[in-house]
Order: sequence, then C-alpha cells, then structure tokens
Amino acid sequence: MEKTISQMQKDVDNWAQQFEKPYFSPLSMVATMTEECGEVARVMNYLYGDKKKKDGETLKDLEDELADLLFTIICIANDQNISLSEAHERKLEKLYNRDNNRYKRK
Ligand SMILES: [Mg+2]
Repeated sequence: MEKTISQMQKDVDNWAQQFEKPYFSPLSMVATMTEECGEVARVMNYLYGDKKKKDGETLKDLEDELADLLFTIICIANDQNISLSEAHERKLEKLYNRDNNRYKRK
C-alpha cells in the first residue's frame, strides 16, 4: 500500500506519542538526522566509491538507511508542526517557477 507523506507523518506520530517524551530535542534530532545521512553516504561509498565494500553491504542496506533518514526528517517535521506535504508543494512551485530554466532540458 502506497502511503502519502501525511500518512507517514501520522504513523510516526502515533508511534512516538506512546512515549513520555515523544521526540528528541530539536538539536538531538538534527544530530540524529546527520548521523543517518552519514550512514547513507557510507553505503553509497561502498557501492559506488573507492572505499572497499564490506561483506553483506547491499542495496537493501541503502533502502534501510534511506528509511532511517526519512524517519528522522519526519520526526523533525512532526515536532515542529510542519506539514511535509505542504512544504513539498512549495518546493515544487520553486522548481517549476524560480528554477524553471536552471537545467538543460532533453
Ligand atoms: Mg541508519
């Protein structure tokens, strides 16, 4: 089943609200997001970079790390009462307007 980003935000919040402190403090969440971003970079480096690949490091690991990164982004958005769906719409608006001629077209 495909989920919308707002459904994903609700899923994460439903899980988080079980706990006394649903979300880490804002700066801890940024640190966690940065850690997860580094884990994505680590897998990509093993897959495509010069760093020697470790045994068992596969594309599944990349999927898992991207999911971890998405989770941290959703936590930050939820804690800050941000709708990622609305933020995404504003991003698309910029891409199709302000940045419309920024890249060479096919
Ligand atoms: Mg991770």
